[in-house]
Amino acid sequence: MNRRTLLLVVALAACAPRPQVAPAPPQTPRLTATATAQRVVLVSFDGMGADALASHTDLPAFAQLASDGAVARVVPVNPTQTSSAHVAILTGASPQVNGIVANRFHVPGTPPDAVAEGMMTDIDVETLVEAARRQGKRVGAVVFPTVDARTPRRAADFGVAWPRPLTKGQVVHLTRDDFHREWVPPTWTATASRHPSFSPVLRARLDWNAPQHARADVDLVAYDSTDDRTENYDTFFIESGEHEQAPDARGWFAIAQRTADGTYGSWSKLLAPDPALHDVTIYWGAIGRTDAYPESFRTMLDDEIGFWPGSPDEHAGLDVTTIAEQMERLSAFLTRVQTLAIERMPFDLLLAYQPQIDSASHQFLGTPDGDRAIGLAFHLSDDALAAIRARLDPARDALVVVGDHGLMHLDTLVHMNAWLPEHGFDAWRAFATGHVAELYGEDRRDELVKTLTDSGFFEQVTVKDASSHRNSGDVVAIAKPNVAVDEGRDAPSTGKPPGNGNHGALNTHPELHTVLLAAGAGVPHGSFGTIAQTKIARFVTSLLGIQPPAAAE
Ligand SMILES: [Zn+2]
Repeated sequence: MNRRTLLLVVALAACAPRPQVAPAPPQTPRLTATATAQRVVLVSFDGMGADALASHTDLPAFAQLASDGAVARVVPVNPTQTSSAHVAILTGASPQVNGIVANRFHVPGTPPDAVAEGMMTDIDVETLVEAARRQGKRVGAVVFPTVDARTPRRAADFGVAWPRPLTKGQVVHLTRDDFHREWVPPTWTATASRHPSFSPVLRARLDWNAPQHARADVDLVAYDSTDDRTENYDTFFIESGEHEQAPDARGWFAIAQRTADGTYGSWSKLLAPDPALHDVTIYWGAIGRTDAYPESFRTMLDDEIGFWPGSPDEHAGLDVTTIAEQMERLSAFLTRVQTLAIERMPFDLLLAYQPQIDSASHQFLGTPDGDRAIGLAFHLSDDALAAIRARLDPARDALVVVGDHGLMHLDTLVHMNAWLPEHGFDAWRAFATGHVAELYGEDRRDELVKTLTDSGFFEQVTVKDASSHRNSGDVVAIAKPNVAVDEGRDAPSTGKPPGNGNHGALNTHPELHTVLLAAGAGVPHGSFGTIAQTKIARFVTSLLGIQPPAAAE
């Protein structure tokens, strides 16, 4: 299938009206393996909407994959949130069965304020990882959501969990007062200046410290390389212990420290070097470590690839170029980890994940910079796909590529725990993010449903019933695509959202649909129409030649 056919398949599946009375539609073949593959690699690109993918016509690896194998449009589960969607992919079961009912909710019986995060909460039914291991298969997982080794059920045979950063990235402004001629702590020996300078060499101390893990003294050292009788500092070096480095052409520099439990590191950037040193602006990156298991796998990654490079920092107020550079670094790192795992590690099933399309779309969807940043995210994903595919043998290995949901543009934010008391529902508590508000309480429930419905913010308000999972809110309100919700308590109860794109609205919106593309050993050819996200697990196990997870549809 060529690129144009892929576009057509994806677009037709989106637009096809459902006639009330019609001749029986031609039977779409069922997506199942034609043979058993020796290895299966399942890659999830977070936030990869079917229509957004089809709108990018310059992604050669995606086009090639579509023309070589199977293509389907995938309707995500409700809610269309990352944890619910990935757990549906892993279990083949819907959120009301597997218990991951949203990205944020409340587990009955826990303290009233206790937030349950979908990424962290126990999954009620068997996952692909458990099903494969139960049947004697070896599984690897590289930052695949929920496969984080926090419990034996959540562990693969080897893997990398998404790490929580140990420090917060921040923009630091150094002024002239921060720079000193002499900075020689008692334990140091004064050393001669390392580079010629026509003004006194000045240094500012920066604290690089992940408490209880790693710390280092880091100096930003300023030199004046021009003999022009003016104090104009034009050259900067970073010194840490005996080591000196210059920032790269874009201003980035890495600081790392090897410890007994792995390599800790951060990427920082000299954003604005002021020759007068009145305002030298630095992005001081978060310190992280690759959270890999077993230790031998972590050591291999530290040795051959380096430390965890950190995520695009949405909270530090960075410019789009800097965020794009962070996105590029993380995607390249994950691609190297994933390809190294394919080359070196023994597995039957490898689960891989990359976040860049989702993170760029959250921040930039529908903004002037949006096309550039989101376009870069799609290209990085295409590069990742090409690199992964190049390591696989199509005669032996199967590659399955999915997204979890698309995203839609936002313009309004509702702080649910301000909105509820403002409307007289003090006894209710909201756990909310994206477009999904899980509401817990009993008082005047029918009145609450009517008030939510009449507010104009929500496209669906439902009451918990016998088919709901016990984790489900007593009332669940799904916001319209342009409206996001959070748990804020402060008035005013509505405002501008922090990002520009989000997901969680009803899966009837075609923008939220995603895709499945697959090729290689055992993968059938052609278009498989529109499938439910809960069918992916069964397809993957058919490729492995094993039974699907116990609750798979
Ligand atoms: Zn997602």
